[in-house]
Order: sequence, then C-alpha cells, then structure tokens
Amino acid sequence: MNIILFGAPGAGKGTQAALIANEFSWQHVSTGDILRSAVASKSPLGVKVGSILDAGGLVDDELMFNLLRQRLSQPDCQNGFILDGFPRTLQQAKTLLTMGFDFSCVLYLEVEQEAIIQRLSNRRIHVASGRVYHTVYNPPKNEGLDDITHEPLIRRKDDYPERIRDRFQVFNESTFPVLDYLASQIEQKTIHSTGLAAEEIFLTIKEYLDLKNK
Ligand code: AMP
Repeated sequence: MNIILFGAPGAGKGTQAALIANEFSWQHVSTGDILRSAVASKSPLGVKVGSILDAGGLVDDELMFNLLRQRLSQPDCQNGFILDGFPRTLQQAKTLLTMGFDFSCVLYLEVEQEAIIQRLSNRRIHVASGRVYHTVYNPPKNEGLDDITHEPLIRRKDDYPERIRDRFQVFNESTFPVLDYLASQIEQKTIHSTGLAAEEIFLTIKEYLDLKNK
C-alpha cells in the first residue's frame, strides 16, 4: 500500500511515518531526509540545496521530482511506501499522480501551529536512526545524547523560531492548498493530533490502516 502523509512542518510526519513503516513493513520515504543527507555528504546536490534548506525555502519542483522518481524506483519501495514531505506544491502533486502509483489515502496530521512551534523549538534528532526527542516531554536519558547509541543529538538549523515561522509561511501559502487537490483525487483521512502523544496518534492511524489493508 502506498500512502501520503501530509501536515505542517513539525506535525509529526517523520515520527508517524517511522511507526507506520515498522508496523506494516512499508518504506518510509522522506524527501527532507534525502536532501539533508545530500547536504551532509557535500554532494553536488547537497551544495546546491544547502542554503535553501537552512532558510526553510522550497527546492525546485523539477529537481525534487527527479529525486523522488529515483527513490521510488528502488526495490525497497515496491511493497509499499509512505511519502513524507512530498508533495509540497500543486505542481508536485499533479506530477506525482501521473507516475502510475496507486495511493490508498492521504493522511493529514492536523495540529495547531502554536503547539508545533513549541514542539519544534525543543526537538532534537539522532541523525543516523531518525530517533526524535523533545527536551521537555521526551528527553534523552543523558542530555544531548541518543539513548541507544550515545551519539550526539542535533538541532536542525531550521528548527529555530525565526526559521520555523518562515517554514509555516511557506506551508500555509504553497503547501496547504495542495491538500484540497489531493483530497479530490485520493481518499483523505484527517487525524486531529493537537495535544496527543505520538503513541495515541499512531493508534488512530493503525486502526484506520488495518481496516484499509484487510
Ligand atoms: P522536511 O524534513 O520535510 O521538513 O524538509 C526539510 C526541507 O527540505 C524543507 O524545508 C525544504 O527546504 C526541503 N524539502 C523537503 N521536501 C521538499 C519538497 N517536496 N519540495 C521542496 N522542498 C522540499
């Protein structure tokens, strides 16, 4: 089954995608993660997009689409995938739906933006595993270190309040309108997530996907 996870920056897409991937053995495809690893490896792509990511802007549609096409053609995506962070523009959405994949649903993680600002400002990440911590609500056992590998956690450059506001502006202007278009083509399920723990949100998602996956 292929699904699209939709939501504002920091709505919890990455966390839920990882839980879904683990439960259903579908591949988690995060365009943000692909771009960040290109930046970290200083590849030509990474050099090109690094400043766009830091500023919370959007990488251009054609480049994104080529990246995605390559990723989705890999063998590990053939049993199903969860798209996280794509599409972000109407053009991306339209092109995605011409690729020949069957999408079972768009899961929209709806969260109030004030709650997200709070969450993102305190978010810390273990890059290698994608494990996500919150300095107040889900702190690591040792400050600044991953619980399992004890490697240092990072704070994304775009997780500072100023950048978070810029990313919301981009989301509200360019990405949110895409939901209406997707919902006109694919079944949409809205998950009201404000104030809920990741495990509670996942229970709702799992119940819904279990029914669809029967
Ligand atoms: P994310 O991890 O999904 O929040 O993505 C981090 C950053 O990567 C975004 O702020 C954009 O700069 C870039 N990015 C990720 N996915 C896309 C996309 N589909 N289109 C354009 N830019 C993207």
